[in-house]
Amino acid sequence: MEQVSISRLVLRRLRDVMAGQGTAQDRLNTIVRIIAADMVAEVCSCYIMRAGEVLELFATEGLRPEAVHRTRLQVGEGLVGAIAASARPLALADAQSHADFAYRPETGEEIFHSLMGVPILRSGRVLGVLVVQNRTTRHYSEDEIEALQTIAMVLAELAASGELVNPLERQQPSGTGQLPARLEGVKLNGGLAIGQAMLHEPRLVIRQVVAEDTGAELDRLRHAVDAMQIAIDTLLEASDVLRDGEHRDILETYRMFAADRGWMHRITEAVKGGLTAEAAVQKVQSDMRIRMNQMTDPYLRERLADLEDLTNRLQQHLAGRPFAPVAAELPEEFILVARNMGPAELLDYDRSRLKGIVLEEGSPNAHVAVVARALDIPVVGRVKDALDRVEPGDIIVIDGDEAAVVLRPSEDVQQAVDNRIKARQGQRAQYAALADLPAESKDGVRVELLLNGGLFIDLPYLDETRAAGVGLFRTELQFMLRDTFPTVAQQAALYHRVLEQAGDKPVTFRTLDVGGDKLLPYMDSIADENPAMGWRAIRIALDRPAMLRQQLRALIQAASGRLLRVMFPMIADLSEFTAARAILDLELDRQRKAGAELPVKVEAGMMLEVPVMLWQLPAMMDRADFISVGTNDLVQFLFAADRGNPRLTGRYDPLSPPVLKALGEIVRAGAARNVSVTVCGEMAGDPIEAMALVGLGFRCLSMAPSSIGPVKAMIRSLEVGTLAEFMGSLTEIPSPSLRGKFQDFARDRGITI
Ligand code: PEP
Ligand code: MG
Repeated sequence: MEQVSISRLVLRRLRDVMAGQGTAQDRLNTIVRIIAADMVAEVCSCYIMRAGEVLELFATEGLRPEAVHRTRLQVGEGLVGAIAASARPLALADAQSHADFAYRPETGEEIFHSLMGVPILRSGRVLGVLVVQNRTTRHYSEDEIEALQTIAMVLAELAASGELVNPLERQQPSGTGQLPARLEGVKLNGGLAIGQAMLHEPRLVIRQVVAEDTGAELDRLRHAVDAMQIAIDTLLEASDVLRDGEHRDILETYRMFAADRGWMHRITEAVKGGLTAEAAVQKVQSDMRIRMNQMTDPYLRERLADLEDLTNRLQQHLAGRPFAPVAAELPEEFILVARNMGPAELLDYDRSRLKGIVLEEGSPNAHVAVVARALDIPVVGRVKDALDRVEPGDIIVIDGDEAAVVLRPSEDVQQAVDNRIKARQGQRAQYAALADLPAESKDGVRVELLLNGGLFIDLPYLDETRAAGVGLFRTELQFMLRDTFPTVAQQAALYHRVLEQAGDKPVTFRTLDVGGDKLLPYMDSIADENPAMGWRAIRIALDRPAMLRQQLRALIQAASGRLLRVMFPMIADLSEFTAARAILDLELDRQRKAGAELPVKVEAGMMLEVPVMLWQLPAMMDRADFISVGTNDLVQFLFAADRGNPRLTGRYDPLSPPVLKALGEIVRAGAARNVSVTVCGEMAGDPIEAMALVGLGFRCLSMAPSSIGPVKAMIRSLEVGTLAEFMGSLTEIPSPSLRGKFQDFARDRGITI
């Protein structure tokens, strides 16, 4: 309670300074003095981001004044640089012993031992770093970190105002803007389009951070929320998104988020703490961003984009200016360029004119990408500096399949693109025509194509794609959508619905793969240093067996009278599988004793995604009823390369001799013991990688719905015998990537990839 009132008082003083006279530099100087006094710190310094990712000391209380505008640190350099790089706060009682500490003699900071710093964030971008330091080895509390973060919000407005650093400084040198350029990214939705660039900039500048009248702010907030909810309802009623499909579930979840009480509660609390409604909305968003930014789980990252979308929308309603682009003012055909977008933001635009989307962020499971897929709009994500490099009105080509964006293409490139767009329309018709044909190669080898899913929306694709079943049902996704841990009855109802919708087709349920970075809102979070290799999946399940028991009980109940296929993730030791299977048997027994109808058959599988299992394949095959190879994790662990780290994207190729060798051993071990082996990682859904898997001998592939058509087209144009022969000597080639060889092979033999 006391903490709130202290920071509230300071907030008022800061407001007065912000509204007061003098230059931005004067105001900043005063602000660091106020903070130092309030935080009882000998030092308070503010670093501001300049061009070239340089953090410059702009103001300080306590360090030597001559260091101001002289001390500069690269992002990632020193503790200040580390805070900017991670966009997270840092508090150290003994900063100098930290590995990242970078000593700058001009500052005279050698006498200060403890340090607490927070990023100055705005719209997800780090604009600077705010630091306090003390002589003693002081342990800063969570409340103090929180208070400094709130103050950093005030500074964010100053930093973003353009009064400290000219915003033009961050842009490209003049002249380069006019040249054609090719930017690479990540494919979020395939397809090819051309159009004029339009920048999606829904964010509003917050003018006032501290409230004059908290009651009035709460009223404004309530009205804006009501108006927003009505507007969202109207938006989601549009006819082209009304039909069923994956996108529909995402939009419904989005609508649910807009009414989420937890979100509202946090905003209301922030208003009660002294902020304006706008600042409170922004603060809650920043807090969420910090919490979620480090997560590698694509699904959770997408929740963040949903929230950002809602935040922008709520801000617009607070400002009384809901975003509504006027169709007549839009170019005939345009490509949206944005940092990121939520699923509903895209619906604000006229779909007959919106031809493609370029994002600086985004992941393949991006909700905006799912909605774009439903509307057949190509999307390329993770395009670095897209917003800085594109001028509104530029002609842009977006090539989703190549994950590339071409800015200001020449006339002949534009012509070639037009021709290809026409050819692609023909190819689409070809996939549709394949739907009823089997995934069988030219030499008669059948491959079973299965779907990956985790939400109800994935199930209609079983029919649409004629997939043979669900090869991987990621159960954790349903858990993540909820506020509380679902009861056995709730889980059973859910799994039952999944099985009902799948009809005769088998569904392989994977038990909860949570923990590490995939946190459930209602589970105690633990800060794992290395989440992918941390306390996750089967490790949590065996340490907290009640959770696993309940899930297995629900699965058994849901599958009564049917086949139950369940698999356990991240097995790193066969005893883990044995223990999990024993729990399954226990639950079956319990169900039997209760006199309930059991599943007609139960199959227990193991996910192979930890490299150590490669040296115990026969024993593994002896124990499991089936194996599913999670190449996403397996490959990241084989290369020791974090799968979620964009800096490592594309650095190592799974189509390399060692990975193919390992996969070959798995498929051979399965065949030797007659155990079915499926691949359910992303490799299975990429035509060229799937081709290599088929060549190795894999006959079951589980993938995203959109991959079924392309993978089937590949298989139907392939001669497996010739491929296997070709691959015979390939794995001995000392090369980091065999991709080129596979591509040549496919091209020479007319294989559709
Ligand atoms: C995998 O690791 O390949 C896999 C399918 O599981 P997930 O992507 O959910 O970790
Ligand atoms: Mg995995």
